[in-house]
Parts: sequence; structure tokens; C-alpha cells
Amino acid sequence: MVRSADAVVVGGGVIGVSTLYHLAARGARDVVLLERDTLGSGSTAAAAGGFRAQFSDEVNIRLALRCIDAYQRFQAEFDIDIGFRQTGYLFLLRAEEEPHFRTALRLQQSMGVPARIVPVDEALRHVPGTSPDGLSAATYCPIDGLATPHAVVQGYAAAARRLGARIVQHEAAREILVRDGRVVGVRSAQGEIATPLVVLASGVWSPELARTAGIDLPVTAERRFVHYVASDGGLPERTPLTIDFATGLYFHREGAGLIVGGPWATPEELAPVAVQRLPFLADLGVANTWSGLYEMSPDHNALVGRCDEPAGLLYATGFSGHGFQQAPGIGEYLADLALDREPELDLSALSLRRFTDQLSRPELHVV
Ligand SMILES: Cc1cc2nc3c(=O)[nH]c(=O)nc-3n(C[C@H](O)[C@H](O)[C@H](O)COP(=O)(O)OP(=O)(O)OC[C@H]3O[C@@H](n4cnc5c(N)ncnc54)[C@H](O)[C@@H]3O)c2cc1C
Repeated sequence: MVRSADAVVVGGGVIGVSTLYHLAARGARDVVLLERDTLGSGSTAAAAGGFRAQFSDEVNIRLALRCIDAYQRFQAEFDIDIGFRQTGYLFLLRAEEEPHFRTALRLQQSMGVPARIVPVDEALRHVPGTSPDGLSAATYCPIDGLATPHAVVQGYAAAARRLGARIVQHEAAREILVRDGRVVGVRSAQGEIATPLVVLASGVWSPELARTAGIDLPVTAERRFVHYVASDGGLPERTPLTIDFATGLYFHREGAGLIVGGPWATPEELAPVAVQRLPFLADLGVANTWSGLYEMSPDHNALVGRCDEPAGLLYATGFSGHGFQQAPGIGEYLADLALDREPELDLSALSLRRFTDQLSRPELHVV
């Protein structure tokens, strides 16, 4: 049983394992990750695996470029196939949505993102069989795409272990121990671990643990549903991850079939919206449905940073549907903060301080 550590990461989702790996890769030796269940069993298990540079917030675009690069190099670096495929993302738009997408596009292009606006007929050539009803244009970005979250979790975890980090599964943290304004340990069901550093990466469950250290994390859970259709309906292998922005419907190829997702819990609720956009779905049945939790923050941007008090407490949650794709950069950033290194990527705008300083920064492209 672990009794002390230089740092404890709480939560073994994609954010926790990325952080653990980046701590170990920066030379931190005595680092431990506590996962109450099994690695990747939280929101990460439900993630579609999409990544994109098509955000409206400049911080998210910078972070996306770094993370896409990291996922592109992942197989060579960690010797594991993460199913990395740059099929692009296609946002299908109504006229009223175009102005803010055009504004975001200008920002993306100014930062080197090859996203562009495309006319409806060109957009639909990527997704044959899709109805053009109500659409005025689309945005497409060829560097966006998909990877496999489970493989990323395994890749980071194995690499962290090789560097000497310890991963303890089936052990839940119950309390963050604080003395004189500093973190001094974590209490779990199995006892206490003395540590001066805790990284809270417990997904949607982070607020309850943060409260034990007197920190209020404004994160709420929102359930999202994923439906698997066993046929591809004629959509090509390299179908972009396509989002009907007004309804929140999204779809992409998955193996021999299709994933169709959004806020609809049952095939019956999904059908009217999905069949309107993808008429061929009327003849295909949903083979399987599952769900997971989005960790929503008030402005739909991640909450990532270091507490002033208690000192030694770091947090990363509130990813509002884009935590999988941000994991490489967030892990790097947290490891730098934890080890008092100058972060290469400045993500200070994502700290909790933005709410007390009235600097909330809404991300508009939430899927
Ligand atoms: C249906 C769906 C589709 C999605 N699609 C995408 C997508 O395409 N692209 C994208 O970027 N994001 C997507 N997301 C969002 C993404 O899944 C999350 O933002 C991301 O997985 C968050 O990772 P995490 O490590 O912070 O949280 P989690 O994966 O939830 O991990 C937190 C872990 O902490 C553990 N834990 C909790 N409390 C404790 C405790 N007290 N002690 C120890 N361990 C604890 C949990 O068991 C869990 O394993 C999707 C989410 C859903 C639900």
C-alpha cells in the first residue's frame, strides 16, 4: 500500500493518465495515480474520440493544434495504434449560425488552421445521402478527425509505468487533507497517502472531492447518448465527423457501421431528428445505445489550474464535451504547473480565477 508520494493524481481517465505520464516524463519519480474503478471507465469510456481545431476560442484553437500534433506522433512515441485518422469535421449550418462560424473561421485561419467555408453541395459530397434541408453552408477542416480513447489511455498509462509511476486501481480518494493552507495528503478508503501535491482529475466527480479542500468547482453533469447503427448507410470510410449544429446531431463512421449521437436517450427520440438529416436511417435499426456524462462548466470551457489556497492543489475538469482531444496539452500543462516549470503553452486563461475576475470566456462550438 502506498503511504507517501511526491504527487497524487486522482482519477484515471484520459486527463489523469496524461498528467501522470507528463509528470513522470519530466523526471518526477514518486508519482501515484488513484482510480476508484478501472482506468478509462468514466466519461472517457463514452467519448467518440473526435478532435478538431474548429473552436471559437483562441485558447482552444492553440491547444487543439498542439494536441492534434501530439496524437499524430502518439503511435511512433508510445508504440500503440490509437486509430488516429484525419477524416475532417464538417459543421452543417443554418443561415443564422453562419456569422459566428465565419468569425471563428477567420480566427482559426489567422492561426494557421486550414478550415474553410464550403457550399452545401460540396459539403454533401463528403456525406452522400444527407439531406440539405434548411442548410445554407458548412465549415470543413481536414486536420480534424478521430482517434480511440481507450488506446490513448493505455498508451499513456503504460508509458507512465515504464517511467516508474504507480497506478492504483479500485481505490477511491475520499478527502484531500489540508493543513495550514497547504495540501498534505489524500485520504482513501484504504488509508492516508502523505503528499504535498494533488492533481484533481476526477471528471464530473471532481467537485465533491474539491469541496473537501474548500474549493468550489462549478461543474455539472449532462448525460449524452451514443447510438450504434450496424450498417454504414452508404457513407464512405473517410466520412468526416459531421455535426448538424442547430440540432446537436452528430455522426461518423465506426468500423462497419455508424455512430449517431446527441442528447436523445432512445432510438425513438433520436429518429425524428436523425431521419430528417439522414433519410436512409429510416431503413436501418439502432443496434446498441450507450451513454456517458459531459462535465459542463458555466462557459463551456475547461477549468484547469492551480489553487492559491490550499497550495499544492491542481484541478482539471469541466471539459464540456472536449476533454479527450485536450488531454495531451492539459497533461503537459498540469505537469509543468505541478513542477513549477514555465509552461510551454499558457493556459492560465482557463483557471477558476476567470469567474471571480469576471473574465469568463464562452466557447460557442460545443457539440
Ligand atoms: C457521449 C460522449 C461523447 C464524447 N465525445 C467526445 C469527443 O468526441 N471528443 C472529445 O474530446 N471529448 C468527448 N467527450 C468528452 C470526454 O469524454 C471527456 O471530456 C473526457 O473523457 C474527460 O476525461 P477525464 O479524465 O477528465 O474524466 P473521466 O474520464 O470521467 O475520468 C475521471 C476518472 O476519475 C475517477 N474518479 C472519480 N472520483 C474518484 C475518486 N474519488 N477517487 C479516485 N478516482 C475517482 C472515475 O472513476 C474516472 O475514471 C465525450 C463525452 C461523452 C459522454
